[in-house]
Order: sequence, then structure tokens, then C-alpha cells
Amino acid sequence: MPEAQSELQHFAKNWQQQLADAFTDIDELCRYLQLSPDDLPVSHAATLNFPLRVPLSFAACMEKGNPHDPLLRQVLPVKDELLSYSGFSNDPVGDLAAASQNGVLHKYHGRVLLINTGSCAINCRYCFRRNFPYADLQLSKQKEDAAMQTIQDDTSISEVILSGGDPLLLSDARLARLIQQLNTIGHIQRIRIHSRLPIVLPARITDELLTVLKQSPKQFIMVMHCNHGNEINPRVINACTRLKNSGISLFNQSVLLKGVNDQAQILCHLSEQLFSHGIIPYYLHLLDKASGTGHFEVSETEALVLMRQIQAVLPGYLVPKLVKEQAGGASKQPIF
Ligand SMILES: *Cc1c(COP(=O)(O)O)cnc(C)c1O
Ligand code: SF4
Repeated sequence: MPEAQSELQHFAKNWQQQLADAFTDIDELCRYLQLSPDDLPVSHAATLNFPLRVPLSFAACMEKGNPHDPLLRQVLPVKDELLSYSGFSNDPVGDLAAASQNGVLHKYHGRVLLINTGSCAINCRYCFRRNFPYADLQLSKQKEDAAMQTIQDDTSISEVILSGGDPLLLSDARLARLIQQLNTIGHIQRIRIHSRLPIVLPARITDELLTVLKQSPKQFIMVMHCNHGNEINPRVINACTRLKNSGISLFNQSVLLKGVNDQAQILCHLSEQLFSHGIIPYYLHLLDKASGTGHFEVSETEALVLMRQIQAVLPGYLVPKLVKEQAGGASKQPIF
């Protein structure tokens, strides 16, 4: 990103251009944040398999000069990622290996998850997806047709979840085609989109996208992914308000992360912030134990303490469900 370029100019661009401008270089991000890479535990080796990637919209929410910023911690490649922690592996849930066969994950009753694309606008260092070759997860047209046939043939499926990677990285044309295909399947009642883009690249919520969603007779649900109240800026609020005004139900899922949101006060503030913009706190996930993420772990015991603290001060509808992903379960496993 050219340094002289003003943020105003950047945010006037369309989402594809904003995405192309995202930070991919540690030194550049540090310069923008007025930090010296020498004062941070950065690791270039950690970027070899999983590069740094941060849209300016997200970086702009970080506090300049703060090496411990909770948003920076989510995206900065650090030396700890090279350590191995016991119990952490490359495919902790076994999902991605299974999904890459046909792009359809049917684990829970009535819901299928479609892996539409392997890529994301931001690379979150704690992500379980970090150890996978993304390109392999791309749902080809051929696989997409096969996936549609699977959904068409199984009348027990009432909800299709577009996931990834980030499904909103697909073009409006691809999304429209997907949704039109789903519109023709009578037993599908709901289409759910799991995306981090309303938070990290809110410019993606274009009027064209909203038109595609509004034209469908199905009910739409957007589950976004925000971990800290600082991620919510006026651009994010605008995107969420327009989604809401288009009749889309908004929920949020977070991951419980050491050094990011492992304090009751931070989680309470996040819930309050989300709700004030029409977003319901849905899940708080325990970390999936993927290699390279051990330094983010918050133990189940600590998580339970936090949940009791949150429950003591928030109304029930602002308390997210604490869950963990478990291979072979009939649902995500509730912990609290
Ligand atoms: C998380 C997940 C879902 C959705 O679960 P909900 O509890 O309905 O949010 C569906 N399918 C798969 C494979 C999942 O991992
Ligand atoms: S946006 Fe979601 S899927 Fe993408 S890197 Fe972040 S946590 Fe992983």
C-alpha cells in the first residue's frame, strides 16, 4: 500500500481494490502502526505457509504504537507459532480433509455446510484452516453441481450454510448463481452465510449483494465473526445496518483467545456493542487445537470462570454459548 495514500482515498475504492491493497508485509504493517518490528516477537518464518494478510479497514481499528493491541495479536505472525504444543495437530477437527472431497460437510441434522472457497480477506493466526492448502478447497463448477445434486436429493436438509474460507469473497455473479440454484430446491428454508467480511472488509456489503440476497424467497442468516469490540467501526456499523434493513438476521461468533478477549469485561463489552448494532451473540468457541496456535489457548477451566462472570452481569440473551468442536458429535459441544 503506498504510504502517501490517504485512508479516505482507500475507503472510496471498491471492495476488490481494498482487498488488493491489504497489508501483506510485516514491516509495512508495523510502519503504519508506528511500531518497530524489532520490538515485537515477529517471525517471517511463520509467514511461509500462512502469509500475513490484513485489510486496512481492520488495521485502522488498531491502536497506533501499542504492541499488545488485541487486533494486532490476531494477525501478527509471531515466533510462538513455530512452537509445538502437545495435543495440537494439523487437522484437529478432521473437517477440512473430509470436505475437500466434494465441498459438502453434512455433520449435523438438517444443515449442510458448503465450502465455497478456501480463501479469506484476512489471515487470522489462530485459524484451524492455516495448515491447509487453500486452493484445494475451491469448489469447482463441477463439484458445485454435484454438491447441489446432493442437497436436492436429501429432503432432510432445510438449511444450507455457505462457508469457507469466506464465501463473500465470491463475486456477486457466482453468489447469485449459487443462490438461484438453492432457490429452486423446495425443502431448503434457510440460507446461512458464515463470513468475517462485514467486520474486516465492510465495503463487501454492496447494494448489488443486498439485491441478490433480497431477491431470494429463502430466509437469510448472516453469522459474522468478531472477537473484540474494537473491531466495530463506523464502516462496520453501516454494513450491518444495511444487512439488517434488508431483512437478514445477524449473529456473531467469536473465538476465545488468550491476550485478545480472555477477560470478562472485554467479552461483556463485545456483547453490548454487537447487540447495539442489531447483532446477537451466538457462539463463543474454544480454540480448535491447530498446530501453530497453542499460544492462543484459554483452558476450559478458565473459560468456565469467564462465563460465570459474564452471566452474572449480562442479560441471558447477551451471553454467547460456550462451545467446542468435537469430531463425531451430533452438534457443537456446549461447555456452559
Ligand atoms: C458449525 C457447523 C454447523 C452449524 O452448526 P450450528 O450449531 O447450527 O451453528 C453446521 N455444519 C458444520 C459441519 C459445522 O461445523
Ligand atoms: S476469517 Fe475465519 S476462516 Fe478466515 S482466517 Fe480468519 S478465522 Fe480463519
